[in-house]
Amino acid sequence: ISGAEVYARALKDQGIEYVFGIVGVPVIEVAMAIQQVGLKFIGMRNEQSAAYAAGAIGYLTGRPGACLVVSGPGLVHALGGMANAMVNCWPMVVLGGSSDEDQQEMGAFQEFPQVETCRLYSKFTARPSSIAIVPEIVEKAVRTSIYGRPGACYVDIPGNFVNASNYSPVYPPIDSGSMCPAPPRSLADPNSIAAAAKMLHEAKRPLIVVGKGAAYSRGEQELRRMIEDHNLPFLPTPMGKGVIPDDHELCVSAARSRALSNCDVVMLIGARLNWQMHFGRPPRYNKNVKVIQVDICPEEFHNNVESSVALCGNVPDVINQVKHSKKSFRGVPWKLSKKSDWWKFLQEKIDDNAIKTKVINSAPLSYYAVYDVIQQYLPQDCIIISEGANTMDISRTMIPNYLPRHRLDAGTFGTMGVGLGFAIAASLYSLETAKKTGKPPQKVVCIQGDSAFGFSGMELETVCRYNLPLVCVVVNNNGIYAGGNREFWEAIKIAPPTFLSPECRYEKLIEAFGGEGHLCATAEDLDKSFKRCISRSNEQASLINVMIDLTSDRKEQEFSWLTRSKIKIKS
Ligand code: ADP
Ligand code: MG
Repeated sequence: ISGAEVYARALKDQGIEYVFGIVGVPVIEVAMAIQQVGLKFIGMRNEQSAAYAAGAIGYLTGRPGACLVVSGPGLVHALGGMANAMVNCWPMVVLGGSSDEDQQEMGAFQEFPQVETCRLYSKFTARPSSIAIVPEIVEKAVRTSIYGRPGACYVDIPGNFVNASNYSPVYPPIDSGSMCPAPPRSLADPNSIAAAAKMLHEAKRPLIVVGKGAAYSRGEQELRRMIEDHNLPFLPTPMGKGVIPDDHELCVSAARSRALSNCDVVMLIGARLNWQMHFGRPPRYNKNVKVIQVDICPEEFHNNVESSVALCGNVPDVINQVKHSKKSFRGVPWKLSKKSDWWKFLQEKIDDNAIKTKVINSAPLSYYAVYDVIQQYLPQDCIIISEGANTMDISRTMIPNYLPRHRLDAGTFGTMGVGLGFAIAASLYSLETAKKTGKPPQKVVCIQGDSAFGFSGMELETVCRYNLPLVCVVVNNNGIYAGGNREFWEAIKIAPPTFLSPECRYEKLIEAFGGEGHLCATAEDLDKSFKRCISRSNEQASLINVMIDLTSDRKEQEFSWLTRSKIKIKS
């Protein structure tokens, strides 16, 4: 067999199902071999989107998606997706074509220090020294991507390997079909478990934060049981949304600031005290807040704030340990009373916010009005992709999630342009799951700001080529954060950096590729269009371009440090 087939079989042996990429010299034959061994090769339009898609598959399935790229620039384009996966702690494997072994350092076609470059963007990188060792290197890459804290890995494909067939094994090849085992499930130190259980029990104002590590580790059942057993208030992070449904009575998202700044014990479950969690410091948190942290990665503990208890292990297993920690509760069940001062204090804010959020839906539409329409038609098992600035932030509060791993967004890295790559991955996953379970596929809805959409708009062609039943919504305000209207454009000499062309007809793009486009500016139009698109999305992709009020912004925030400073455009 050829070197190309060795790579393809190795990927298959490791349980890889999806390979996203763009072919060219020297990886065309690799992509063909990948199809021949029965894996799905998805040809994308930019390596960046291919890499985003591979990362999303990793998050959705718990096994890495693969990304196949050409040498030099192809690999460089994929770095964005590798970095995104690393920062989000998602597994993926990149395979990059590279220069022939006997042309190295000679200025070969697209020669680049690929292994060295990828080192900063991955957990493991290798240039196999022979074809014979490729299966082992691929196994190691897949294993490393899912063991410990998940992340990206890189394997080089020397150009001369691709068509070579006369090779002698350096090592005996590992048995074909020997897939690396699932990651070992680690438990936390029993003493720390007892300390954590005691601390939770004794807390006056406990709070559980559910992060995307809890989602990734499939900790939903255990977590829900713990939270319900003790009546604990919980707060999901953006992608922790849905691990426990947003409409659960113990969810305190509507009192987020109050919960964070007043809790006395916060238990972080697969979430980091980074910028998204305001570093665990005042004014977002009480100065004396005690932190219980559950994480798979020991290096994560005590970052920014020293944890009172560090529980190193796999989320569902550690939560089970806490449940069975008899030592601290003496086996006596306890429940935080809904009549406690803490619950009353939180509930008051939740009720107050429920009254305040009345949406005005006259045109020009606000972000809130857009989401008010859309959310009525979203099935509970819908996968939502959301990116943009306000488009994403506001969707987080306006679009509920009911199932784990059903929201994908710009994530910890704040990456713009991930939307269509994620949506393609989610649609494939949804179709495949439907095939396996015999149930109808889950709907996938991709909601992007106009600027975010622009980063990877050409992937609409990919969407249409593979007949992915996707509903895209572009929330259009003519720019980054926001742009100007036609009159403004006529009056200015130089376009401000935040401006994009006014009233772009993005819906025409999908029409060019055979999909269905809609332009909307009123709630009635949007209602009609969205209802149509979501109900027929099993047949054909669609894109709704919805023009909104250029001055629409987030609601007034209660605290100044939660407000993004307004951009002022001078004439
Ligand atoms: P969020 O953005 O939701 O706050 P982060 O990405 O900041 O979440 O944090 C996720 C954390 O989950 C990471 O620190 C990662 O190490 C951790 N993690 C990943 N998988 C597991 C697992 N199986 N068990 C426990 N923790 C995990
Ligand atoms: Mg915009």
